Amino acid sequence: MIESFLEKTARYIFSKHPDIRQLEQLSIIVPTRRSGYFLKRALAQCSAQPFLAPEVVAIDDFVADRCKIEIADNVSLLFELYDIFKQVDKNITFDRYLQWGSMLLRDFEQIDQYLIDADYLFDYITEAKALERWQVDWPNSNVSTQSDRLKAYFELFSNLKKVYFSFKKDLKERNRAFRGMAYRDLAENAVDVLLTADHSIKPRYYFVGFNALTAAEEKIIKTLVNAKQAETIWDCDYYYMRDNPLAEGGKFLRKYRDAAWSGEWKWSESHLLGTQKDIHVYAVPNASMQAKVAGELYQQWCAEGQGGSEQRPVGIVLADENLLVPMLNGLDESITDLNVTMGLTLRNSLLFTLIDSLFELQFTIAEFRSKDGRAIKIPKFNHRTVQKVLNHPFIRRYEFLALQQRDVSTETIIQVTIREIQQRNLVYLDPALLLEWGQQHPLFKTLFSRWDDNPHTVIRVFYDLIDILREVYKDTQNAIETEYLYLFYTLLKQLETTLSSEHVEKLNLRTFKAFLYELIRQTRIPFSGEPVSPLQIIGMLETRALDFERIIILSMNEGVFPLTKRQNSLIPFDIAKEAGLPVFSDQDAVMSYHFYRLLQRANDVHLVYVTDSNTYNGGEKSRFILQIEHELVPKANGTIKFTEHVVRFQEMDTSSVDMTEEVADTTPNSKPQTVNSKHTISNDWTVPKTPETLAFLRQNLTNGGLYATHLNQYLKCSLQYYFSRVAGVSEDEEVEERMGAADFGSWIHAVLERIDIEFLMDGKPISDAEIKAILREEFAKLFRGYDPESGINRLLYQVAEQTVLDFLKEQRQRDENLTVLATEQKLTATFDVPLSDGSLALKIAGKIDRVELLNNVIRVADYKTGKIEQLPKVTPDKLDHIMSSGDNSNHEKIRQLWIYQYLIYKQMLREKGLRLRGREFHLDAYEVTSGFYSLRNIKRGFIFNPLKFGDTQDAESYVEQSENYLRTFVVDKLLNPDEPFRKTDYLTACQFCDFREICGR
Ligand code: SF4
Repeated sequence: MIESFLEKTARYIFSKHPDIRQLEQLSIIVPTRRSGYFLKRALAQCSAQPFLAPEVVAIDDFVADRCKIEIADNVSLLFELYDIFKQVDKNITFDRYLQWGSMLLRDFEQIDQYLIDADYLFDYITEAKALERWQVDWPNSNVSTQSDRLKAYFELFSNLKKVYFSFKKDLKERNRAFRGMAYRDLAENAVDVLLTADHSIKPRYYFVGFNALTAAEEKIIKTLVNAKQAETIWDCDYYYMRDNPLAEGGKFLRKYRDAAWSGEWKWSESHLLGTQKDIHVYAVPNASMQAKVAGELYQQWCAEGQGGSEQRPVGIVLADENLLVPMLNGLDESITDLNVTMGLTLRNSLLFTLIDSLFELQFTIAEFRSKDGRAIKIPKFNHRTVQKVLNHPFIRRYEFLALQQRDVSTETIIQVTIREIQQRNLVYLDPALLLEWGQQHPLFKTLFSRWDDNPHTVIRVFYDLIDILREVYKDTQNAIETEYLYLFYTLLKQLETTLSSEHVEKLNLRTFKAFLYELIRQTRIPFSGEPVSPLQIIGMLETRALDFERIIILSMNEGVFPLTKRQNSLIPFDIAKEAGLPVFSDQDAVMSYHFYRLLQRANDVHLVYVTDSNTYNGGEKSRFILQIEHELVPKANGTIKFTEHVVRFQEMDTSSVDMTEEVADTTPNSKPQTVNSKHTISNDWTVPKTPETLAFLRQNLTNGGLYATHLNQYLKCSLQYYFSRVAGVSEDEEVEERMGAADFGSWIHAVLERIDIEFLMDGKPISDAEIKAILREEFAKLFRGYDPESGINRLLYQVAEQTVLDFLKEQRQRDENLTVLATEQKLTATFDVPLSDGSLALKIAGKIDRVELLNNVIRVADYKTGKIEQLPKVTPDKLDHIMSSGDNSNHEKIRQLWIYQYLIYKQMLREKGLRLRGREFHLDAYEVTSGFYSLRNIKRGFIFNPLKFGDTQDAESYVEQSENYLRTFVVDKLLNPDEPFRKTDYLTACQFCDFREICGR
């Protein structure tokens, strides 16, 4: 086991102070609080005797403590900066200021952190801008600096210097500072503040595990080192310090070493090339799948008894911190001992989307044009936003936990409201009407009351909303959502206090929104739990000075790690570089150091990247992986084993996902190998089948019947089945002004049905003009509010017209003898299913698009508006899987036709023949088959269902085998009390699921 950097550091510091009473007088400064915690633990292990611990502190806390100035929060700083700006430029508006206020504040931070000569910098900027202005004013230029925008632009830069100095002066007078200002203050006064007269203990300060120092940090450390009061302890490796002098990871440390200001260079080690390492690289198809891979790996290690320990935890590093929630969901339920350390931004939270929808609701009020062209606004909400709010996962979860009645068939106020909107096709909604449907429930009052132009009203609404949602989350384990609520509450409090002072008059609703959003963008949950856990899920910056022997890093994609270069400053790049401010290349060097440092003492490294070209700037693997492959591994003389895996998820059965890894081992002299492993991916949310639910299901199976769509839905995702068929949560059924895909399908179905009934079933020919007339009539019937001439509707109309014309033409040409026997034919069949407590009369039901006859074959046909080429072969070994798998859309189609064909056979057996259009069809003279018409692949004709139950194709055995499968489904799955409703493992299903947001997928 390699000694960690912090253990080695603790041992070193301990050895420097044999008199352990001295330890309590030391200050050890580290990059993060977390590294401080682990250093303290390592120190404690150095002595068998108790001793008073030294001060071990993160550098931010050290500066805040020593500079004795209050470091102001960002909310008030932004306001205070605006006040100053206003004194300098009377014309500035808060709206305009908000567009760059935060950026300006960040620039001021940097200027002070890097001890930049602000006079020089701002003069330089002013001159550069004067030059720019002069170029714009050049006689041939077609732009004029007299335009308001350009005037404001140039004025902004000419005011910067004055604003910077006035702002700092103003803060200083009130003994306040922004963080960079505090760093500068301490750096400039380090001698007075930090140097003590007591020289008995040397050194008194240790700076441990730093890399890219800001100028202020460097000056603070230098001052103390020069006075022999401080020592620096760097963590570095010969690989980037000596052997590879151009490696960007060593850029800063090489500079410090060569400048020799930091005293004796303690130690360099040779872990990167000198210790055995197994490095695995995984290419996965999408971002959230990375979390599954990490979860699987960790689960596997736990099963092997190697799931990490408090002393030697496993690290999962999230280069993209948005993966935290998928990562937590990707872990097995049994894994509860873990720690999360990272800042989650409020901007990426689900809570933010609700806040955003509420603002949208208030801003999208109905607007009409009067005859004389005036815009008239009426205080009504748009139906879309109302439904968006009501369908928000937080609200749906509130409904699920707090509004749902015991009797699930009773509608909740949310279901009533959505139903009313959809049934009445209401586009604009009066708040009073919404409150009426919501029975004046506090939730509805909070969501649908009109806001005035006063930010305090909005803050109060949000307080109420937090109160309501808090009720829901108090009993659930969802720590992240609860944290977000708390964080948002703190933000509002801060904002309320600031607004209550002297600034309130500046904000109307729009500026308040802009300001709140800016704060939300900047606010992060400072997640940090119990640090000692066998599994650490951690952000990249939090890994500073920590070591993990076994580590997984996710999102190893170029553009994420290292991050895409972005100019986020008002200071032009060339000037920033010239003045000594950090630029992109510095950022890359910092990331490179973090990465190689993490690799130093690790012996089992797993790097995961996404191949999907729509994710992370094109699915390119990080340059760091390429560097390992092409630079590190060749130099390692066999100490590093490098293996690449391509991970894809394959269909297996409903409860498991097969993760096949195609492994290419590129370690010299090793053979390619293939590892196939089957993993069960855990579900994190289940709904048990209570006796009431089972009774409800049984009643439904007997009275309503089991349709192919129900069976398919249950197999695809039993939780989705629960939401839509048991809990009655309504699926999105938009009140639309334009046609959606589902509308398109129903329209074509209705048209074909009419053509069959009015023409083809009677053998009457139909002309194109008649087809077009039916299309028009059905369109008018189905979509009263739509305009067939506008935009996408027009396009879809033309597509539909052509589709129907082509379909009928193709059929006339291909199957001259074809007769249509029935359309939209409803069929049912009932048989007994033995259950442990009696038996159930199971009704199977279906509505068949078309029954047709071609020669002596009765064809059960279904129209599909999507494109189908052909259905997969059904071999006997695959039969069971096809009949019970929910992870393949082709299997759904096969099962749908199976049920239809079963219903026809059953009817023919039961009634000794099929009676349609006055004719009788008997099994001895007619065959039955089933298939699809793909309306987007008309040339393909009738696509036959490949399902066969063995060699015997007689009706009796078809019916018998079908009923066996249906019984198994009902007994083993649907009515099985031990199989709760649960989230699917087939993630494709979630992509198109209306309940995705409720269950957090
Ligand atoms: S989002 Fe996925 S898991 Fe949730 S109900 Fe829908 S299909 Fe099931």
